[in-house]
Amino acid sequence: MTPGLVAAVCALFGLVIGSFLNVVIWRVPRGESVVRPGSHCPGCDAQLGARENVPVLSWLLLRGRCRHCGVRISVRYPAIEVACGALFAVVGARFYDSWALFAYLALVAALLALSVIDLDHLLLPNKVIYPTWAIVAPLLVVASAATGDWGALGRAVLAAAIDFAIFYAIWFVVPGAMGFGDVRLAALLGFALGWVSWPALWLGVFLPFLLGTVGGIAVAAPVVLLPMLAGGALGWFGGPAWLERLGDAPVDDVTRAHVSGAIVGAVFLGAAVYLVLSALRRVERGRQIPFGPYLAGGALLALLVVA
Ligand SMILES: [Zn+2]
Repeated sequence: MTPGLVAAVCALFGLVIGSFLNVVIWRVPRGESVVRPGSHCPGCDAQLGARENVPVLSWLLLRGRCRHCGVRISVRYPAIEVACGALFAVVGARFYDSWALFAYLALVAALLALSVIDLDHLLLPNKVIYPTWAIVAPLLVVASAATGDWGALGRAVLAAAIDFAIFYAIWFVVPGAMGFGDVRLAALLGFALGWVSWPALWLGVFLPFLLGTVGGIAVAAPVVLLPMLAGGALGWFGGPAWLERLGDAPVDDVTRAHVSGAIVGAVFLGAAVYLVLSALRRVERGRQIPFGPYLAGGALLALLVVA
């Protein structure tokens, strides 16, 4: 099986799972069952038949309206199906030859649902997090058994504890920085990233804060994104030369020099402009932004870029 073939099969599977995630996203925060009753129109309550339940296609063929009452069906439904298909494709390509493929497909599906629920309700429901544990943990045990790599499982358990401890400490020390749902989610992500490797875990801990900072700035003062972009570009091109000057030796890892240069440049210029704007009181304050999507995005990036 080639990566491309696995990715294509996973993408189709993802469209179907995305359809189920729409049900989860709507019903779980409202305390409804995800199994019963079957899908029905939010406008007229008509039960949807098999032909109206085909991911994306049904929505396109019915031009985004209910066949019975004509009420508009939000574009968000097919968008979530497409997003799930795309996520499954990249995870399929990444884990195409791994026993852990299904564990990480389940994980990203849950992360997509949790992110949208968190954006809607500022909530990461246990009714999603616990079932995800119940699916991902046994699948990774099976993957460890199949490969004989029990070290990965031990690392996963330790990483879950470490990630939980880190986010518990932040939750405890910085009031309002995040909800306890984020701490619970961090334990699950620690387990899943730890199974891959330690670098994946550390990246998964660090990246949400980087993404959260950029996202928070984008919401509070979108104009700061411009100097960040400029700083990032300057840092990218200047990175290797600066590092060489600092270390007084040729840089051996050029990619790393570019990336670290870009991060330092973006953070430095962005922070400088942000501080000036804050001093001039041009920054919007006090809006609460959910942290779950950043945790999810950081974990996904860490899974994809680190071996
Ligand atoms: Zn209807």
